[in-house]
Amino acid sequence: MNSLKSAILDLLYPPKCPVCKAGVQVHGQWCSACLTQVLAVREINLAAHRIYDLDTCIVLCDYVQGAKKVIQGIKFQGDLKYIACLHWLLDRYLPLQRFDGIECVLPVPLHRDRLQIRGYNQSEKIFREWMLEKRYSWIADTLIRCRATEPLWDLPLLERRRNIKRAFQVVRPEVVNGKTVLLVDDIFTSGTTMNECAKVLKQAGAAIVHGLAIASSAN
Ligand SMILES: [Zn+2]
Repeated sequence: MNSLKSAILDLLYPPKCPVCKAGVQVHGQWCSACLTQVLAVREINLAAHRIYDLDTCIVLCDYVQGAKKVIQGIKFQGDLKYIACLHWLLDRYLPLQRFDGIECVLPVPLHRDRLQIRGYNQSEKIFREWMLEKRYSWIADTLIRCRATEPLWDLPLLERRRNIKRAFQVVRPEVVNGKTVLLVDDIFTSGTTMNECAKVLKQAGAAIVHGLAIASSAN
């Protein structure tokens, strides 16, 4: 029944590349031209960014072209239809074997003011359903952003670091105590935010904190 339903849906709404709208085989799929422009699965060199609390961080794409369009669409235009094409990327290109031993997954939180304006946390929208499907334990109420921060992207690095200090708090340390944790976010920019999250998680007892972001301009 489900396959009949999806066949009919495919006839009515043929699957299209999220970026250029070229026809593709399945919903969420990127055409090979748009995919080639963005796909760059890699581990960020954290030491080069002077990041020491986050243990590792994997990103899937360069933050350019289609990846930028899709993430900005989800974040600023409420285009949640793009989530399927990020799941398609995660399904195919996330090196899941790197995440052996992960005991829980946490989204980088938004401050409640930002949450109220946007209506949702984009990282939660992007990752929650996918992680639950993969049977990871999803924990969204433990790491919170207790202080609103200025948008970080136009600040120099030192300012970013000063600005983000004490922005996060772990409200239920027993949930992460002794655990191997995966932090997920839409973009890895300077790593300042993820590292600050990792720092408070470790202060709360987390043993290892890995990171995962969809896109980044960093190496
Ligand atoms: Zn395309």
